Amino acid sequence: MSNIKYCCHFLEWRIEEVGKKGFSILVDKMPNGSYYFVQQGRSHDKDNLSGHHVTFQIAIHYCFGCGKKLSELIDDNKQEIAQLYELHKDLLMG
Ligand SMILES: [Zn+2]
Repeated sequence: MSNIKYCCHFLEWRIEEVGKKGFSILVDKMPNGSYYFVQQGRSHDKDNLSGHHVTFQIAIHYCFGCGKKLSELIDDNKQEIAQLYELHKDLLMG
């Protein structure tokens, strides 16, 4: 588990849901190397992708739980966010 100082339990919980059916929040990276958060919705767990499944993803800039500006969270936890990205990158939508 990471040592990120999350703004609230909502965000922490959503990040723990990564790869599972339902909504989760992941770290993605822009071409310029800066990180940002995305919300992802999956119709199936990542390990249960036989047959038809749906995934969608949208960038988010403020925490849905508490409204914190997420770029500040990223600036305060640069190393941990980079580590999360390494964990998440194979689950991100191209
Ligand atoms: Zn929050």
